[in-house]
Amino acid sequence: MAAITGGAAEIAHSCSICDQVVVNLDDRIQSCILGQLGELKKRAGAEQCELLQQYVSLTKAGPEVNVELRLGRYRNRKDDMRAFVAREGWDEDDEEQSHEVQVFRVYAPANDPSLKALPIQPPGLDIGSERAFEKARQWLKTCRNKHSGCRSSKGNPLPTRVIDVSGEKIHLIDTRAEGLKHEKYVTLSYCWGGPQPVTTTKATLDQHLQVLPAGEFPQTIKDAITVTRALKVNYLWVDAICIVQDDLEDKAVEISRMTDIYNFSYVTISASTASTCSDGFLQTRKLEKTPIRLRAEFSRNKKGSVLLVTDPASDEPIHKRGWTMQEHLLAPRLLIFGSLCMEFRCLGGNERDGGTTLPFNAQQSGMPAMEGRVASVLYTAKYGGVPDARRKSALKRNTFLYRTGLMSLALKITGEQNELEGVVIEQWASIVEAYTQRTLGFLDDRLNAISGIAKKMHRAELGEYLGGLFSYKLLPQLMWSRAEGQTPLPRPSHGYRAPSWSWASIDGQVTFRNRMWNSVKVTASLMEFNIQPMSEMKKYTEYVSGMVRISGDTTALKLVTDPATCELVVPQSHTDLSLTLDAQEFQDVSSLDVYLLQILHDSLEVRGLVLQDNSDGTFRRIGYCELPRYGDATAKLREGWLEKEFFDHLVSQLLLQRCIKLRLLILTTLFLGCYYLLVLLDSDKSLTSLRAEN
Ligand SMILES: [Zn+2]
Ligand SMILES: [Zn+2]
Repeated sequence: MAAITGGAAEIAHSCSICDQVVVNLDDRIQSCILGQLGELKKRAGAEQCELLQQYVSLTKAGPEVNVELRLGRYRNRKDDMRAFVAREGWDEDDEEQSHEVQVFRVYAPANDPSLKALPIQPPGLDIGSERAFEKARQWLKTCRNKHSGCRSSKGNPLPTRVIDVSGEKIHLIDTRAEGLKHEKYVTLSYCWGGPQPVTTTKATLDQHLQVLPAGEFPQTIKDAITVTRALKVNYLWVDAICIVQDDLEDKAVEISRMTDIYNFSYVTISASTASTCSDGFLQTRKLEKTPIRLRAEFSRNKKGSVLLVTDPASDEPIHKRGWTMQEHLLAPRLLIFGSLCMEFRCLGGNERDGGTTLPFNAQQSGMPAMEGRVASVLYTAKYGGVPDARRKSALKRNTFLYRTGLMSLALKITGEQNELEGVVIEQWASIVEAYTQRTLGFLDDRLNAISGIAKKMHRAELGEYLGGLFSYKLLPQLMWSRAEGQTPLPRPSHGYRAPSWSWASIDGQVTFRNRMWNSVKVTASLMEFNIQPMSEMKKYTEYVSGMVRISGDTTALKLVTDPATCELVVPQSHTDLSLTLDAQEFQDVSSLDVYLLQILHDSLEVRGLVLQDNSDGTFRRIGYCELPRYGDATAKLREGWLEKEFFDHLVSQLLLQRCIKLRLLILTTLFLGCYYLLVLLDSDKSLTSLRAEN
């Protein structure tokens, strides 16, 4: 293990092989032959050459193959250079060869002349040092003074309780009782990773208002206090301490305020590397491998050196936890204590304490993938939507319009209204997909831990929030399914979470099929929808029932159990049809009668829902289905969907009866008040009305 503290490369490797290389920093791409593999293997072993050791161990090339060192600027960027060790003439696109390449980042050491030509230093590994904190204070100062999109934190209300870290005696403050209104506070985003040693409960609340047992705090919270003080802020908000953990009422109130708690905070500390609360996050970081020093030249004969560093490719634990996603998205400013160095993000941009934005080869999974930058997601979460945050001028203009409350007027004038809502809905789908990749300590937090973003994104134009979906463009949004690779999980076992047509009704990763929703042809019609939250305060989190009434083309189908896997599958006669069941259920049945309801089609696929009959005129979603729009097999089924001519006599009769039954129910409602609704609540939470065409 090697440590580069504060950017100085004291312990870099060099040897006779590495010494023969001179990197020319003026060239965009360059390469040199290090020698023949057989010969190099011997020398690399003897000299313990860090540049070659890894490559030598992974290559299958013969001894006579020449080994090449190639360097290139990534996308022509001045501050992003990479180095590759591979066989001579290797081809990036060759699948087989690409496994035999050793990759490095190239940095200029601190105070080295080559910084002029390669303005990027190795990561500042001394993450808890005064030097690092000074850097963080500078970033915050620039953000406060120079970024027009970053709202000032002045005048933002405080959460119900905060930890006062200003004095020797750390204690909890009830902000209303103390009459504190507008003060700067810091929020912490971290992984609990199991039970916490110190939490505030009904029994300890009074005591904690006097004094908190700071000595017993887990290291992550201790480190957060250190950072808060270093940033010269008096108040810190940590969920485990500031929410009364065994008071359900208090929990519900605070969860409903989560959007504001993070949105209004001065800065959010992200303890990205800590997988449990006892890990802490201010330890000096270590590189997995010794960096390699090579000689460098630039601007005709100016001399310096560069460092080749292997970035760790692992994801950070914080991006795997459900709750932290909204904490990150809602934070106006994010101070990240990452696996290599400190990083700062706000709407004004990204800053890093050396190093590069993402570990090479590692995508930051669990964050919404957007066209363009994270900024557009941040912007959406903050202002409710923006068509293209990549264009600086648009960003500036829209920020102004949102802040002055003129956005909806301006959108009407420019006719961008529809486009904008479409974009917001698609961003919401991205957020849900990324969110469901993450894990939750309590599965029943499925709606809780995303409710802050839902609330923030919820604008009048998006209609109602229906337990994970918005009523605007609801039908295309129903085209979610269990993600590929996600094994079916049992339905949530206790209590009611969401209607069967919401992704929140199942656990595990989900994906939205074909998100180009502006280009699909929706064939079904939405007749009615309704959702009953537990209370007004819980309208983003807890529900008692929900229904949609959809009219569309349907067909009946009998699923059969595959004897080999014991899973329900499409019968042989319909092999074109691809079907994804939502959850692990129907374990002990030999077959299952279902209905397929067509919702939409795009140029290639017809897409719809798999429904189970509740035998009372209502249906329950149990899966998603699609079939190619054009093809030879299953013509009957496809035509039935597309041409609306399919229903055979029997099915038509059955459906007609059902429609009559429904009409009767509606009539009854007129006379019997709530009866209709009660029927729905008792049966199940989804309802489909099927239409038979003559
Ligand atoms: Zn070497
Ligand atoms: Zn900023």
